[in-house]
Amino acid sequence: MSRSKRARSAPKGAVSSPPRPVDDFPPKYKKLINRFYEPLILLRVLGQTRGGHSTVQEHDTRSLQCTRRRFLACLAYVASNAKRKKISEFLAKLLERLRVIATSTADGDGEDEIATKCIDFATPRIKKEVGLLRSRIAQYHKRSAARATEQDMMLLGWLGYFQNPEALVSICQFAYDERRSTWMKELEQRSRSPRYKSSDDASHVMFNYIRHYVGRLADHIRKPKHLIQHCQQLIFLFDNWTVKGVEAMQATPRPEHSPQTSLPNILKRMLPKDDPKLPEYEGALTVMDRGHHISDGLREYWSDPTFQPKVHAEIQILEQFYNNGLAFEDNDPYIACSKPACFCCHLYFRHHPLKCVEADSHQKVYHNWGPPMINTKDEKEFMRQRDILNEMVKDIRNDALNQIIQRRGSLAWHADSVTGITESVLAEREQADELDSVDGSAPSYNPDSDELFDMPEIDSEAVSFCSDADDPESDSDGGVALDITELSVSQ
Ligand SMILES: [Zn+2]
Repeated sequence: MSRSKRARSAPKGAVSSPPRPVDDFPPKYKKLINRFYEPLILLRVLGQTRGGHSTVQEHDTRSLQCTRRRFLACLAYVASNAKRKKISEFLAKLLERLRVIATSTADGDGEDEIATKCIDFATPRIKKEVGLLRSRIAQYHKRSAARATEQDMMLLGWLGYFQNPEALVSICQFAYDERRSTWMKELEQRSRSPRYKSSDDASHVMFNYIRHYVGRLADHIRKPKHLIQHCQQLIFLFDNWTVKGVEAMQATPRPEHSPQTSLPNILKRMLPKDDPKLPEYEGALTVMDRGHHISDGLREYWSDPTFQPKVHAEIQILEQFYNNGLAFEDNDPYIACSKPACFCCHLYFRHHPLKCVEADSHQKVYHNWGPPMINTKDEKEFMRQRDILNEMVKDIRNDALNQIIQRRGSLAWHADSVTGITESVLAEREQADELDSVDGSAPSYNPDSDELFDMPEIDSEAVSFCSDADDPESDSDGGVALDITELSVSQ
């Protein structure tokens, strides 16, 4: 939610014309972009996941700020569930209805109605989630066919509900009502990773997926419930609001590849001039390269024809606030997003002059991430972006150098881990990424929390050398896509 505070010049990053060829840019800008992507792509090759999920903040019912943030996050979630062209109309109607409900005195008024509206809006997505769940249940059926225990039979009987031709609302409601059931606990038990190294085809992975998809379905009831719960407390927000689309931002062009973009040269540029530790890093990297084909990985990324940087949604909204001098409701610089931020968005928020609340992050690196394109003739604009990217590069570089010096992650590149992943698993993982609003790594699942399920780690490094799928329906490039318009709700 924002209030217009001061006018600045028009958004400089908001450009809708086709990408300009990289040769069009001044040398210093090309250099900035090339130097930014070198360590980023190296980090991607070294391993996509850079850490656990940043913790989702516990909801404190006494805090108005906390309530407002959760309300906005739920709004972003339910609005992100369908065709972007229809989001504006859906959101406006939803807010109007919530305004009416907020003035009602009866507790629980409108819960079913709002959940049904949100589920109707999200029908294509929910159908996908149900389909993925059913395919995992079918896998479980197949595996246990010859040796099903009595417990298996009972668990399959419970899962059978999700295979009935029920209305989507009933399926989601069942998932929500059963969130604390013994069968969800059973799935949690069965989805725990064994102490020994197992394949990605192991049973705990299958159970983790089943549990994850049931959780996704429950979310379609949980999030509308939060909207209803909080709208009365936030009734003052409904006095005067508008829903606006923002013009899609174009990202910087992809970096250039040249003979200088080699692994030894990238390493040298990542270290201070004449750094005495260079030979030590070179030695470690040579060993890693020999075992894990890091140079090949770099080449594959640079030659990937689908490598086209995109500006993720949260960055576009951040820039929208900055460029237009918008003020945040109650001076709380929080930008809600329907899913956790990627590694780069997280860093961009951290180093952006607006100093917004750092978004929860899944800490994954996507090489297709791109900063907004700027007017490179505007020196002030150039320096602002340069400063942000330079600070990001320091973090990216440190992360990569730490991994190199410790030679961490080498097991992830073992050939066996790659062969352990079937194409269908990878395809499903891509869909799961798209379907995740939060693929959290909560050690224990609290059914009333916004903290969601732990997704099985399907050796992300095994796909390091593949290009990210370019499916427009997929978020496999990591962010919430915002290639047409996105919305900000302003008051
Ligand atoms: Zn992102």
